Amino acid sequence: MNIILLGPPGAGKGTQAHLLVANRNMIQLSTGDMLREAKDSGTEMGKRVADVMARGDLVTDEIVIGLIREKLQGDKQGGFIFDGFPRTLAQADALGALLAENSEALHAVVEMQVDDEALVSRITARSTCSGCGEVYNDLSKPIPEDGICSKCGEAKEFTRRADDNEEALRNRLMEYYKKTSPLIGYYYAKGKLKSVNGLGEIAEVQAEINKALG
Ligand code: AMP
Repeated sequence: MNIILLGPPGAGKGTQAHLLVANRNMIQLSTGDMLREAKDSGTEMGKRVADVMARGDLVTDEIVIGLIREKLQGDKQGGFIFDGFPRTLAQADALGALLAENSEALHAVVEMQVDDEALVSRITARSTCSGCGEVYNDLSKPIPEDGICSKCGEAKEFTRRADDNEEALRNRLMEYYKKTSPLIGYYYAKGKLKSVNGLGEIAEVQAEINKALG
């Protein structure tokens, strides 16, 4: 089963993707994680996208489509979760073509609905385990008091993302509304759209997603 998690920054796509990986043996394909990895390891492409990402702009379709193309050829396990991809209509068309080339289909697009107020407070409260990438949130899932990550069991640093500040966030939200939200209509027209309320507790949202996926 291949699915897309669609929603604005801070909607909880990464958190829900991690749960689907753990519970359904799916593979998370987060273009944001791939780009951050490229940036941190100092590749040519990573250097090119660093400023674009810090501003909260979108990187080119060509780069992210290339990243996804490569991953689709790897192990499929319980299917792919596209997290933060596609973000434009051109990316959505490219994904359709890539899936078809690999004899794969898209099962569902889960739209996670949240309001902007919630996004700002969620994002500015967010931090990540630098060891395993587990995401914490001061409001809904605080860093354990003993400083040991509940996922990897290590006492690594918990870091804030460079683009999790209010200015970049405002821009990321604008990019979402201008370029990504048209995908809601695109997938609705294809009969793939399932909308869930992303504002509940993590477990409640997880239950809604499981119900939507069947
Ligand atoms: P994310 O971790 O999904 O919030 O992505 C972080 C940043 O990476 C975004 O603000 C963009 O600059 C870039 N990015 C991630 N995925 C895409 C994509 N599919 N298309 C264009 N830019 C992307």
